Amino acid sequence: METEPNLANALLGDSFECWFCGLGIDRTDSLALSIGARNLWNGDAEAEPTQIIYAHWHCAETRMKGATMNLERDTFLPDEGDS
Ligand SMILES: [Zn+2]
Repeated sequence: METEPNLANALLGDSFECWFCGLGIDRTDSLALSIGARNLWNGDAEAEPTQIIYAHWHCAETRMKGATMNLERDTFLPDEGDS
């Protein structure tokens, strides 16, 4: 079932807009992603142009599903600060 948390996000006017769905991303999406894209073959990683896109975790997980690999959720879990 579709609920409408995304509507609430959009109304908050957060400055991060999801690349995939176009709605705002707020802090409640603790796994939201910042994705940097750059030319694979352009050698200098520091100097080369990079485009950063933002995405809800849900949107990225669904729409960046790979042919043989998937996004690794555990990689992006926030550091809880405890051990
Ligand atoms: Zn989204």
